[in-house]
Amino acid sequence: MGDFKALREELSQIEREGLLRSCRRVDAVEGGRIQIGGRWKIHLASNSYLGLAQHPRVIAAAREALEKFGAGAGSARLIGGTFPPHEALEEDLARFKQAEAALLFSTGYMAGLGVITALAGPEDLVVGDRLNHASLIDACRLSGAALRVYPHKEVDRLEEVLRARRFRYRRALVVTEGLFSMEGDIPPLPEIVDAARRHDAWVLVDDAHATGVLGLSGRGSLEHFGLPAEGILQMGTLSKALGSIGGFLAGPQEVIDTLRNRARSFIYTTALPPSCAAAARTALRVVQEEPVWRERLWRNARRWIAGLRQAGADLLCAESPIVPVRVGAHHETMRIAQALFGAGLYAPGVRPPTVPEGSARIRTSVTALHTEEDLTAALEAFEKTIAQSPGYPVTRFQ
Ligand SMILES: *Cc1c(COP(=O)(O)O)cnc(C)c1O
Repeated sequence: MGDFKALREELSQIEREGLLRSCRRVDAVEGGRIQIGGRWKIHLASNSYLGLAQHPRVIAAAREALEKFGAGAGSARLIGGTFPPHEALEEDLARFKQAEAALLFSTGYMAGLGVITALAGPEDLVVGDRLNHASLIDACRLSGAALRVYPHKEVDRLEEVLRARRFRYRRALVVTEGLFSMEGDIPPLPEIVDAARRHDAWVLVDDAHATGVLGLSGRGSLEHFGLPAEGILQMGTLSKALGSIGGFLAGPQEVIDTLRNRARSFIYTTALPPSCAAAARTALRVVQEEPVWRERLWRNARRWIAGLRQAGADLLCAESPIVPVRVGAHHETMRIAQALFGAGLYAPGVRPPTVPEGSARIRTSVTALHTEEDLTAALEAFEKTIAQSPGYPVTRFQ
């Protein structure tokens, strides 16, 4: 019988490089705080930007659907797993995103995988931002399409790729995040869309972090720029601002029909639990009916950014509730994250391969649920930790 010693050796190597990962057990989350190992910390790692994972209306909707439809969907959507909450949510998402139709997937990761592999193949070209999320990169690879990346947000370079290569392929698909998950910055979407249109390419925007967050009514990155949704493929997840789990694509009817027929991560997996769809649907209502959460989120983001600057933090970007603090070397990043943890903050260090080598950072995110006291305490802890970190800020950041 074979043994697994070789894996132990590989893991030791990962550990020696300071890149070993493990999960922290969380005991509870309440408001802007998280309980880990019996201690409450200020939670700066949540993607539930509006606090909707804890919203009473959202929880009540999940509970009601749970009682009515049971704990799981029982089969794939095409077999017998389509329940009223799935259909209702797809209609609401399409309306919210101002698209013709929408299709749910069991996670955002699976949405990306399904959409890109269903729309692009070996005869096609996919052009993506260098800092796109791993799920998008995996999807491009799996699709078999020719993949080209352009430097982060550089539309001129995107256009160069399209100009030089578009003609060799059947279709071209430009893929970008609408609000970058590890940077917290927003790409120049109007220019990206223009470049794509000039070269007869489709645009897929992954609004995983932008849905509920960007735009006056939280519709996402297109609303942020006042761009019409027509002809643009908008991906999103239900698992971040919408506080549940699941992913979706909103777009033209023929795209949605194609996905229902070709997206393997839609076809060959069990539908998401109806209770999760019901929770997300109510969360989507809350986004539209209770703008106070988005107002609090952005007020907290402004306060957090100003405070971090004052505390001497070197900010990689400062235009959204996702605020990465630049460090550089991953060992130092993990040391600072640990020191912050000791000072009462939970803000993870983000290392390669999640981000490029030499660009490790502390990723902080604030939510609508952080109180003034939470932010003040968090800023004090940051200031103290930075003061005790000789050589910070680090200048060598790639
Ligand atoms: C989180 C994330 C996903 C995956 O969404 P899940 O619902 O968590 O699977 C996809 N794309 C981006 C940009 C993300 O940040």
